[in-house]
Amino acid sequence: MKKNEKAIVVFSGGQDSTTCLFWALQKYDHVEAVTFNYNQRHNDEINVATEIAKELEVKHHILDMSLLSQLAPSALTRDDIEVKEGENGDLPSTFVPGRNLLFLSFATILANQIGAKHIITGVCETDFSGYPDCRDVFIKSLNVSLNLSMDDQFVIHTPLMWLDKKETWELADQLDCFQYIRGKTLTCYHGIRGDGCGECPSCILRKKGLDAYLKEFSN
Ligand SMILES: [Zn+2]
Repeated sequence: MKKNEKAIVVFSGGQDSTTCLFWALQKYDHVEAVTFNYNQRHNDEINVATEIAKELEVKHHILDMSLLSQLAPSALTRDDIEVKEGENGDLPSTFVPGRNLLFLSFATILANQIGAKHIITGVCETDFSGYPDCRDVFIKSLNVSLNLSMDDQFVIHTPLMWLDKKETWELADQLDCFQYIRGKTLTCYHGIRGDGCGECPSCILRKKGLDAYLKEFSN
């Protein structure tokens, strides 16, 4: 039974946020999506997100956040910085400091404008990257701050917070969107949809989870 309430999903067209979009569509009657344009390394991300939103008949907002690449040059926004994993506990070069702080704040302002109570984001504490603004304690703290700032009762949902990549595939299967997620989403840093280039850190992480899930499933 779906709730007759409105939700907005922070949506990039990747595996995690697309799984969250399906999650929201099963839970709420009115679902919209918001994608942030911050001069991503591959503009394909915006195109993929637009295409998926259209296919799922979800109203799609694209917000210009190009200021982010001015404030925080990183491998996601600048072609001259190489994508690599963090070493010795350093954050990876794909880290944009404060990105989720900004994205969730703007998503909530949009939620306020469109009359949505629920904000859904695919952030995940078990992600190996260790971005501080993906942690549960940060999301809860921001939720309180946003509610105080607008004197409202928004609820930020994080369906993937405690899932690893294998369990995220399992959730997609439960939501009946496994093949869709596998074929249509874009996670690869080199802009290749579906199973991707197979070589960048993002593809390796995605494949590891997928292989683990398929192995478990076939047993
Ligand atoms: Zn790749």
